[in-house]
Amino acid sequence: MKKNARLLYLLTVWTFFIPFSSTASPKLNDEENPPAVSPGVTYVLSMPEPQTHYFEVEMQLKNVAAATNAKKNGYLDIKMPVWTPGSYLIREYAKNVEAFTASAGGKPVVSEKVRKNAWRVYTADDNLTIRYRVYANELTVRTNFVDADHGYVTPAGMFMYHDALKKIPLRVVVHPYKTWKNVATGLEPVSGQNYTYEAADFDLLVDSPIEIGNHRTFTFTASNIPHTVAMFGDVDYNEERLAADYKRVCEAAASVVGEHPCTHYTFIVHHIPPGGGGLEHLNSTTLETTRNAYATEANYKRFLSLVAHEYFHLWNVKRIRPVALGPFDYENENYTHMLWLSEGCTSFYQEYILRRAGFHTPEAYLALVASSITEIENQPGTRIQSAAESSWDAWIKGYRPNENSANTTISYYSKGSVLGTLLNLAILSASNGERNMDDLLRLLYAEYYKKQKRGFTDDEFRKAAEQVAGRKLDDFFTIGVNTADPINYNAYFEPVGVKLVNVAAKMQDGFLGAATTVANGKSTISGVRRGSAAYTDGLNVGDEVISIDGVRVGDDLLRQVSGRRVGDKINVLVNRAGLLREIPVTLSQNPLVSYRLEPADNQTAAQKALYAKWLYIK
Ligand SMILES: [Zn+2]
Repeated sequence: MKKNARLLYLLTVWTFFIPFSSTASPKLNDEENPPAVSPGVTYVLSMPEPQTHYFEVEMQLKNVAAATNAKKNGYLDIKMPVWTPGSYLIREYAKNVEAFTASAGGKPVVSEKVRKNAWRVYTADDNLTIRYRVYANELTVRTNFVDADHGYVTPAGMFMYHDALKKIPLRVVVHPYKTWKNVATGLEPVSGQNYTYEAADFDLLVDSPIEIGNHRTFTFTASNIPHTVAMFGDVDYNEERLAADYKRVCEAAASVVGEHPCTHYTFIVHHIPPGGGGLEHLNSTTLETTRNAYATEANYKRFLSLVAHEYFHLWNVKRIRPVALGPFDYENENYTHMLWLSEGCTSFYQEYILRRAGFHTPEAYLALVASSITEIENQPGTRIQSAAESSWDAWIKGYRPNENSANTTISYYSKGSVLGTLLNLAILSASNGERNMDDLLRLLYAEYYKKQKRGFTDDEFRKAAEQVAGRKLDDFFTIGVNTADPINYNAYFEPVGVKLVNVAAKMQDGFLGAATTVANGKSTISGVRRGSAAYTDGLNVGDEVISIDGVRVGDDLLRQVSGRRVGDKINVLVNRAGLLREIPVTLSQNPLVSYRLEPADNQTAAQKALYAKWLYIK
């Protein structure tokens, strides 16, 4: 469907332009052939009553009748994207739009909605103005928000477009609320004009969130490029230390590919509860963190790893990308098998970058690697869904989890992070320490971003990886990426002289396999692990657990089961939809693993040398 729609668009353009290009017209003087006036779009964004959570948008279209075919058709269709790149869920941004009106020459123009996200405006006029309001009361990195304190714009959910005007330069004029002074965005400022910005096309506009308010900012230079950090939220921080650490992280990230494609970069940081997460853009990012992000060393490391993750995306996914991830279709899902690479390997690099920048010791890094393997191996879904399938189904599974997700899916972040570790090791050992995954990203950047200016296919990625490794990577791709089969981890770790050991192997406690949430003194089952006693014997998500063997269950179901042995039988009394049921359950073997990476016995000199290269030990 996506392909057909594009084909139709190409045909339309072709038939429209053929008469002009095939007519050999005599040379005309200026009066007969006036210079072509290029179309233009300016968005004026205001927020006169921020406390009501509304933005107001005025979209001014100039000289668009020919380009949009409105001259011929008598109408043009104006659309709102249904999703924003980097967050793979159809969000239906148009649901927040109201009061859509159009006018031309100061007179109202009739319009009607023709799709969930499209308005048909009946005019053949060259110049028209469209106005609408956007309800903005969801403060995340992928939605819009405005209140009495500040405004945050996710452009995909704020600015409408016409298909034929997506490739022209656009302007945005921000009118901040009367007491607000600051605007932070990756958009290019127009010199001499306050709060006025331009983007080379609609894709760039969509990729440039905007923070408006009285936030504080600080700046630093990394890789000779100016960086701005906009800090929203009541938070204490040491600006000098933060700037220095940002610089260290950014420069370690830049050393991976070795070329920085930006002329400036902006961080927008929201300090809000619960905090956690970010969204990457071409030359900016929005980070969401807590007000305690800088309060303890552990929190601070977690925050720096978020910085590393989102910043590294400016290469991996924004420029080094699967073919499906740009240019984007803003009206439909954009499918790829490679979010494990774009997201998961970015998660791998976030910690690898912190290791290289000296924030993680080698031991701390090994513990993180082992814990990421523990995480995926403890999820039953890892034996059901491959990393490639997880990527493809992000739209309907990853972003729409339910109570069974852990049983049937695996996150392309966590599996992809482990795959990044393994691919890095595979390249490192196959090349005797000459190359690692950096070289693969450098090759992809040079070949597809710089030379061919496009994304790569699944096959092209595999060929590039095998070229850099200098050997076939059948095990990695067939088992690791494309199936849910068990991975022989130690085959990857052996060349660097470490081994993966399950330190939970001796646990013999009986295992129930039900997770609960506790509210108002009630313990309710929120998850049932596939293959566990709870699963086999029929405890259900939603069951309120009343008692076990006649003893009232308080706030901790697990405590009541602890100390029992494998094979022990218990009677669980539950309230299921208002009826009491007693369910006999036979406790099963605890299947949970807990991995540690330990030095292998009798390490060789070659293993030690490769280990030092792997972990950047000088
Ligand atoms: Zn990411």
